[in-house]
Amino acid sequence: MAEIRNIVILTGAGISQESGIPTFRSEDGLWEQHRVEDVATPEGYIRDPDLVHRFYSRLRKNLDNVKPNPAHEALARLEKEWRRGSVTVVTQNIDDLHERGGSKNVIHMHGELKSILCKECGAHTRWEQDSSEDSVCPVCGKKELRPDIVWFGEMPYFMEEIDSCLSRGSLFLSIGTSGVVYPAAGFVRTVNRLGYPSVEFNLTPSLQNSSFTYSVYGKAGVTVPDFVSRLLESGSIDFLKKQS
Ligand code: NAD
Repeated sequence: MAEIRNIVILTGAGISQESGIPTFRSEDGLWEQHRVEDVATPEGYIRDPDLVHRFYSRLRKNLDNVKPNPAHEALARLEKEWRRGSVTVVTQNIDDLHERGGSKNVIHMHGELKSILCKECGAHTRWEQDSSEDSVCPVCGKKELRPDIVWFGEMPYFMEEIDSCLSRGSLFLSIGTSGVVYPAAGFVRTVNRLGYPSVEFNLTPSLQNSSFTYSVYGKAGVTVPDFVSRLLESGSIDFLKKQS
């Protein structure tokens, strides 16, 4: 197996589950008691902007009640201690637990709760408080703010940067993602075309499982720190052969 240099890590809602943030696909098909069409689409926002502002304001406020778990912290450790190349976290999550866990190299492809987007001037501004239709853009002064979240039907952020990371990578990890939401769900196939190994961490096989080279099942808060320790110790993922 080729030497591992740059590591690209895709994370999803599952990595934050043990911190107490519910994942997306609950049994009833709702996201935090709301229909996805109502709170995570441009059409839902046009129909009821107040509801959408209230929904994300509540999620933003809830960040004060949660903290990073050992999986977030292990990825920060990997970034700090890995000497052979870069470690980049590409997250679909809108929480700030990677940063609070100590990761510096984080790409939020679906936006962030602690940011707000101005529909008028396009500014992305750090935003800690509640938002509403009456909130004023600190850059242009207009009342045209919306949650800085990439909704279904919208183009994820930083796609060029992500493509470039994937093309320079030599190991791909995917942690706590169901493999349903594209384009993130397609990254593993890009990695396969590029010809380097991939590892899926999940409770059970995701929809993309057959595309991964290795799978590690169990809670991310346990499996990810263990994996990071072994990777840092050996510099390779040969130990996975015994596991999978
Ligand atoms: P998802 O909810 O569709 O899937 C979560 C996956 O994580 C599932 O496959 C599940 O089996 C797995 N999982 C759950 N608990 C786990 C654990 N403890 N350890 C390991 N795996 C675990 O999430 P998704 O694929 O990220 O897609 C959902 C979309 O919803 C994303 O675009 C994201 O923006 C948004 N979202 C974000 C958050 C957040 O920021 N924390 C939370 C919910 C939804």
